[in-house]
Amino acid sequence: MNPPKPAKVNAEDALAQLDHDIEMRVSAIRANHPDWLCRMGCDSCCRRLAEIPTLTAAEWQRLKTGLEALPASLFATVSQNISSMARQTARPLVCPLLDQGAGACLVYDHRPTACRTYGFYVQRDKGLYCQTIEAHVAAGDWHTVVWGNQDSIDRRLAGLGKTEALTEWFAALVTHDVPDELG
Ligand code: SF4
Repeated sequence: MNPPKPAKVNAEDALAQLDHDIEMRVSAIRANHPDWLCRMGCDSCCRRLAEIPTLTAAEWQRLKTGLEALPASLFATVSQNISSMARQTARPLVCPLLDQGAGACLVYDHRPTACRTYGFYVQRDKGLYCQTIEAHVAAGDWHTVVWGNQDSIDRRLAGLGKTEALTEWFAALVTHDVPDELG
């Protein structure tokens, strides 16, 4: 007799589990390193995006909920920011979802996974952390840092539907040309 197949986990549940696992790691790092730099008020990574962010379908569904809850004026600002980002050829990019005056994410509870992991999955060969963290680690300030494995996150994200650029997802939202989001 064949062993029973594992129950299929839907993308929303899988994303919630991923959020939970990331939060556990973030909490542990913060507990062991109270001076860790990634915290409310530091927005330098949001101001220096190497490329237009990409999101899986499940992440987009979550982000879309946050965008649709914004007041109309803020939604219009975000829309303008995203249009500008789509046209910009120079790099780095400022995230269109950053409130630049407040230095805070406009959709914090709904932000993409990359924003949750950045700075907490320091990986030697990928540099997934800012130069300030890099300098502290190199100086031995945080010698107990557990080097992260962003690849494991990427493997889990791969099961959360197709991946598109934020600009593509957003264009479909405002034109109501809904793509096959879970394809
Ligand atoms: S979505 Fe929010 S947390 Fe992520 S880069 Fe943009 S402003 Fe920063």
